[in-house]
Amino acid sequence: MKLTEEHEQFRSSVRRLVDEEINPFIDEWEAAGIFPAHELFAKLGSIGALGLEYDAQFGGGDADHGFTFVLAEELGRCDAAGVPMAIAVQTSMATPALARYGSEELKRTWLEPTLRGEMVCSIAVSEPDAGSDVAGISTHATLDGDDYVINGRKMWITNGTQADWICLLARTDPLSKPGDYHGMSLIVVPTSSPGFSVGRKIEKMGNRCSDTAELVFDNVRVPVSNVIGEPGRGFQQQMAQFQDERLVGAYLAVSGARRALHRTKEYLQQRSAFGKPLLANQALQYRLAELYADVDTIDGLLRFAAQRYSEGIDVTREASVAKLKVGRLVREVADACVQFHGGMGYAEEMWVARYFRDARLVSIGGGADEVMLRIISMMEGMGKK
Ligand SMILES: Cc1cc2nc3c(=O)[nH]c(=O)nc-3n(C[C@H](O)[C@H](O)[C@H](O)COP(=O)(O)OP(=O)(O)OC[C@H]3O[C@@H](n4cnc5c(N)ncnc54)[C@H](O)[C@@H]3O)c2cc1C
Repeated sequence: MKLTEEHEQFRSSVRRLVDEEINPFIDEWEAAGIFPAHELFAKLGSIGALGLEYDAQFGGGDADHGFTFVLAEELGRCDAAGVPMAIAVQTSMATPALARYGSEELKRTWLEPTLRGEMVCSIAVSEPDAGSDVAGISTHATLDGDDYVINGRKMWITNGTQADWICLLARTDPLSKPGDYHGMSLIVVPTSSPGFSVGRKIEKMGNRCSDTAELVFDNVRVPVSNVIGEPGRGFQQQMAQFQDERLVGAYLAVSGARRALHRTKEYLQQRSAFGKPLLANQALQYRLAELYADVDTIDGLLRFAAQRYSEGIDVTREASVAKLKVGRLVREVADACVQFHGGMGYAEEMWVARYFRDARLVSIGGGADEVMLRIISMMEGMGKK
């Protein structure tokens, strides 16, 4: 993937925003367990970062995928993973289906203000009883005149306490039941709708500055026209949307891992033991070198995937492999960073402990490692669909 001067100029504006508008406030947001999404997203919207590849007609940037790659690389430099994850929900997890398949009216009403950062959105797929197995969801939308009436619960929803609208996966075919892949739809649900409520905000081990919630839909009524694209195609649309999520999640995580290695190298350079800098020990140099090599390898895969994505090629394979390998690598990187910082790696006052906690999510969220292995197995003709 070739990056041009324009990509680099964009990189500079994102970097400035991360350095001035995000990193100085991260400690405060981590302690609060939330960050001001509307305030921050408006700033991101003002530099065009929220709708890079979307149609300019609906407030997007008509930009190529290289800009998304650069955005994620720079957001990966945030001092906590919760903020980039929440931004990625807005740019690459909750909006791709709406931009691809949504009606003009839906895009004008919901996508445009979201790309400006005036609205915050969430993607609601997971449920208390169905996460890895998306076909196991039971939230349903029953047709009543020109409306759907929605009932169910969604779990682990990022931006869930701040969202203005939800991209909800629900069963719209009355014959469709948990276990079926057909009969689901993606629906835009305004959080101002009567019957919608935040059941609870979930306290988490990491990604603490990102609000995560369980959401309740109790006879929530939305017009049939809020269905994104063709009714009954929600599962397939969501599977496509997952590829955006997994790719961008991997871009963020690789960038974060490289930064963590740089910071650890600097620490080992300035800390001495046994009469020399810790970094003078070949054992530590080689361990870091090995991890840099792994980061480079996955970075290469991601650039290849990004190029194919730009060419409109299906990247399910690359996104699944990258998601799996990045998840495992960041766990190793985080573990080495803690180890090499000694006691300081275990102290809350350093960045390392937070990185260790945040990194653990990559192997779980957006499809656990085992789900990636399942996809790759099926692509290799093993297991059944
Ligand atoms: C911080 C955070 C933010 C999230 N944000 C969102 C969001 O915004 N929207 C949303 O919809 N969801 C979100 N999720 C949910 C996330 O996608 C799910 O947690 C994930 O898909 C795993 O589902 P589960 O938790 O139900 O685990 P389960 O499905 O119960 O699986 C538990 C474990 O079993 C193993 N496993 C599962 N299936 C198999 C298999 N076939 N073979 C072998 N092992 C298997 C895996 O190790 C898996 O981790 C978020 C989760 C977290 C923690």
